[in-house]
Amino acid sequence: MAMAAASSSASFLRPSVRRPHNKPRISCSSETLTPRRSPDENIREEAHRLSISSVDPRTPLFSAKYVPFNASPNSTESYSLDEIVYRSSSGALLDVQHDMDALRQLTGAQWRDLFDSRVGKTTWPYGSGVWSKKEWVLPEIDTDDIVSAFEGNSNLFWAERYGKQFLGMSDLWVKHCGISHTGSFKDLGMTVLVSQVNRLRKLNRPVVGVGCASTGDTSAALSAYCAAAGIPSIVFLPANKISIAQLVQPIANGAFVLSIDTDFDGCMKLIREVTSELPIYLANSLNSLRLEGQKTAAVEILQQFDWEVPDWVIVPGGNLGNIYAFYKGFKMCKELGLVDRIPRLVCAQAANANPLYLHYKSGWKDFKAVKAGTTFASAIQIGDPVSIDRAVFALQSCDGIVEEATEEELMDAMAQADSTGMFICPHTGVALTALNKLRNSEVIGPADRTVVVSTAHGLKFTQSKIEYHSKLIPDMACKFANPPVNVKADFGSVMDVLKNYLNKAPRF
Ligand SMILES: *Cc1c(COP(=O)(O)O)cnc(C)c1O
Repeated sequence: MAMAAASSSASFLRPSVRRPHNKPRISCSSETLTPRRSPDENIREEAHRLSISSVDPRTPLFSAKYVPFNASPNSTESYSLDEIVYRSSSGALLDVQHDMDALRQLTGAQWRDLFDSRVGKTTWPYGSGVWSKKEWVLPEIDTDDIVSAFEGNSNLFWAERYGKQFLGMSDLWVKHCGISHTGSFKDLGMTVLVSQVNRLRKLNRPVVGVGCASTGDTSAALSAYCAAAGIPSIVFLPANKISIAQLVQPIANGAFVLSIDTDFDGCMKLIREVTSELPIYLANSLNSLRLEGQKTAAVEILQQFDWEVPDWVIVPGGNLGNIYAFYKGFKMCKELGLVDRIPRLVCAQAANANPLYLHYKSGWKDFKAVKAGTTFASAIQIGDPVSIDRAVFALQSCDGIVEEATEEELMDAMAQADSTGMFICPHTGVALTALNKLRNSEVIGPADRTVVVSTAHGLKFTQSKIEYHSKLIPDMACKFANPPVNVKADFGSVMDVLKNYLNKAPRF
């Protein structure tokens, strides 16, 4: 990746927009070095001062608003992002629509240079992978209101051995979105949502706290960002359906945690009823702000490939916001000229919670919600996905595919991936199973550049790995289990065990 040493970011708006032929300033010469920030100013205050001094009344700023999702071209319904609104007047989903003409004042090459110039810095707030694309996310928010943990910029891992050994592939990549502040990609969206809530509270809008229903990761991200900003958070969790690691996160971050004896869909229904009665802001992915942050992972993938477009991107899907977010990120890059095409997307579901898969298989006929069965991929155990319309739109627009994975398939895929040096979550196992199937059917070719999106950190899901490697899962062969060997504490016993192992050990 091109790493530029420039510090053009803070003052970019004015000069770049007024002189579209100028690239953002990129230089290594010592004249452009700025003296170190004075000790009585922190990075947030510094960014605030620089942004105030760069505001030029003649400069048309970028802007965004809520519109009904996929509205007809003659619809005029829209809402300011400063309004508290989750649905359109007809009850449809909302979408954040950017002023694309304003964004077109920069060429694709200028956007690429600008985004590249911000990577790997601590400049507030551009050190974040999300806020390094601020103009495409929440263009109008004051940097002072942003709540960020410098999320994003996650590793794009070349899965050399997994690709070669299990799939005969040479160009397979895993985008580790779960190597993040709270261990899942939910951070990307939550920084945006909580920043906007922070702004609303400063504008004295009636928001006493932020609430969500969650399969685990959303509540972890919500509570961390709220805690960082000093905003109360309230989370509804299905009792006994999330991992201990996920449960302990909101508890530790001081959220008000309600453990409710129902499933995710039941919690979702309750939080929607509660938030229509109380001034609690709803943080579920019904809320389209989060998708604006999540879409930056797509931009980041292109950036990490030096703006070469991969052939396939595979995303595990539950509530189905993320698959749309990826589509939106890629589509924006194409529309604004950063790239000339978009990848084909694959959405991967657990067979025990597969309403989108069934819908796809029926040729996109009538959609039917299902009652989600238990799955190790607990974050996608959702039978009635809120973002179904968004997902269908995304997949139809990019010639996408939907696949599914049984429990045995996803656990085996996870174990195989782990055996090549990864440590993935079960959801990523679902995505890898989809890839296995599409390779077997030759839909994906051996040299196709393919990105599997890893959605959470494997360390959140150690319990399922322990059960697998202990062969404790009913009706599952656990073919790739690698249990520890118990051995007496004496030299002879240890040598016996080791010799036995070395005789049988695979040789690579
Ligand atoms: C939330 C989540 C998903 C599903 O994302 P959706 O936008 O609900 O489809 C997948 N994996 C993990 C680990 C998650 O936390």
